[in-house]
Amino acid sequence: MVIDFTPLLGQDEAGGRLLITGINISEKKQLKNELDISRIRYRSVIQSVHDCIITTDEKSKIILFNKAAEQTWGYNFHEVAGKDITMLLPTKFRANHQRYVDDFSSSITQSRKMSSRSIVYGQRKDNTMFPAEISISKMKVNSKLEYTAIVRDISEQSRLLEELQLQAMTDGLTGLKNRIFLDKVLKREIEQIEHSRSDLSLLLIDIDHFKTVNDSYGHAVGDQVLVGFAKIITNILDEGFTFARYGGEEFVILLPGVNQQLAHEIANNICDISRAEVHINKITCTVSVGVSVFNQDGDSADTLLHRADIALYKAKAAGRDCVELSNHDDHINSPAVI
Ligand code: GH3
Ligand code: MG
Ligand code: MG
Repeated sequence: MVIDFTPLLGQDEAGGRLLITGINISEKKQLKNELDISRIRYRSVIQSVHDCIITTDEKSKIILFNKAAEQTWGYNFHEVAGKDITMLLPTKFRANHQRYVDDFSSSITQSRKMSSRSIVYGQRKDNTMFPAEISISKMKVNSKLEYTAIVRDISEQSRLLEELQLQAMTDGLTGLKNRIFLDKVLKREIEQIEHSRSDLSLLLIDIDHFKTVNDSYGHAVGDQVLVGFAKIITNILDEGFTFARYGGEEFVILLPGVNQQLAHEIANNICDISRAEVHINKITCTVSVGVSVFNQDGDSADTLLHRADIALYKAKAAGRDCVELSNHDDHINSPAVI
C-alpha cells in the first residue's frame, strides 16, 4: 500500500501541533507506472521498427517522425517537426497531396494503401527519390484528427523487379531484345503512328542455310555466328530502331519513321554487311530479308509481321541473300508461314 502523507500545520505553530492526513494512492501510483511502461513500450516500438512512421496533425504538419523515417529521408525530427508533410514528397506530387488527404478524411475507411496501381515516391533531403509503399490511417486524438503514414522504401524490390523484367525481355544468347519485347514495342509504335500517321517499316531477317552451319561446325559455332551477326548489325543501326531476336536464326528490325524506300536500302545494306563480315572458316553467312511497311488502312501488328514473312519466303525462293518487299494485300492472298 502506498500512502501519501500531507502535513497540515495548525494555527498555533509555536505549539508544535501537526495534523497529518494520509491518502492511499496505491491505485494512482500503479496507474502511473502502467502509463510509464506503455509510453516506453510505444516509444521503443515506434523507434525500433524498420518501417517509417510519420504522423501529421489535421493541417498536415508533422508531429511524429520515427528513426526509420530519419534514416530514409535524411532529416532528423527537429528539421521536419511542424512542417508540412509535402516536403517529403517529390515536387510533382505535392499539389495533389491535399486533395488526397481531404478525400481520405471524408471517406468511411480508417486506413488505406496509397495507390496500389502506380508507384508512389518519396524525396530525400538530398533531393534523390525513392519508390515507396505507403499505407495511411486516420484517428481522433483529443478530438482532433491525426494521420499516420507507414512508409516502406521499396528501392531494392523495384530494382529487382526491373532487372527481372529486363531479363524476361532479353535474349540470353545475343543480348538483343527478344520477341516479348518486340511485340510490346510494335504494339506501342502502331498506337503512336495511328495518331501521327508517320511511317513504320519492319524487316524480318533469316540467316541462310544456318542448319548447314550447325551440321558442319557444331551448335557452339552456330551460336557464335548468331552472336557475331547480332553485334555487327547492332553497330550499324540507329538507336531509335529496335533490333530483336525473333527466334532461332530469325531477327526483326523495327524502323519507326522509315518509309519503304529507306527500309529497302537498310535491308540491302544488312545483306551486304552480312555477306562481307559474317564468316565461319572462310564460309560466308548470308541473310534473306522480307520488308513490310505499315498500311494505315487495315494493318495490325500480326499482319505487318505476316506480310514481312511472306516477303522473306519470296526472298528465299528467289535464291536467298536478297531482299523482297511485301505488298499491302499479301496477307489476304497467302497463308501464314511463320
Ligand atoms: P534457310 O536458308 O531456308 O533459312 O535454311 P536454314 O537452314 O537456315 O533454316 P532451317 O529452318 O532449316 O534451320 C534453322 C536452324 O537454326 C535449325 C536450328 O537447329 C538452328 N538454330 C535455331 N536456334 C539456334 C540456336 O540458338 N543456336 C544454334 N546454334 N542453332 C540454332
Ligand atoms: Mg528460319
Ligand atoms: Mg535460315
